[in-house]
Amino acid sequence: MRAPGKRSGKQRRVAILSARRQRKSRRLARAALENQRLAPVGSVPVAPQQLLADAGHDAPEFVRRGYYLDLAFRCVDCGAEGIWLAARQKWWYEVAGGHPFSTARRCAACRARERQRKALARQGGRQSCTISITANAAEKENHDEPMG
Ligand SMILES: [Zn+2]
Repeated sequence: MRAPGKRSGKQRRVAILSARRQRKSRRLARAALENQRLAPVGSVPVAPQQLLADAGHDAPEFVRRGYYLDLAFRCVDCGAEGIWLAARQKWWYEVAGGHPFSTARRCAACRARERQRKALARQGGRQSCTISITANAAEKENHDEPMG
C-alpha cells in the first residue's frame, strides 16, 4: 500500500536531485569562466555545451579548468613521446564528438598503422577490397584521433 505522502516524498527527492544537478552545472560553468581568465597563453577555451553529455561522471579535468592545454603523452604502441595540441583536443571533443574521458594514446604513425590493421581485419584482408580500404581509411582519417 502506497500512501500519498510517500509519492510526494519521492517527487520531492527528484526535484531536489534535479536542483542539485542544475546547481552543479551552474557551478561548473562559473568555475570554467573564472578559470578562462587565468588561462595561459596557447590554451584553448572549452565550450562545455559542445561536449558529449556524460551523465554519471564528474566532469573531466579540462572542463573544470575551462580550457585545453597541449598535452604530453607516451604512445602505448611504440613508447614515443607525443604532444596532443590544445586545438586538436577541442576539435576531438567538440566537433568529432569524442568521449569526454577519451585521451591521446598513440602517435600519428602508430595511429595510421592501427587504422590500417583494423581496416584489413574488417575486410578480411581480401585483395579485391584494397581500393575501398584505402578510401575508408582516408575518410576515417580525422575521426579516430586519440583512440587509434
Ligand atoms: Zn607510436
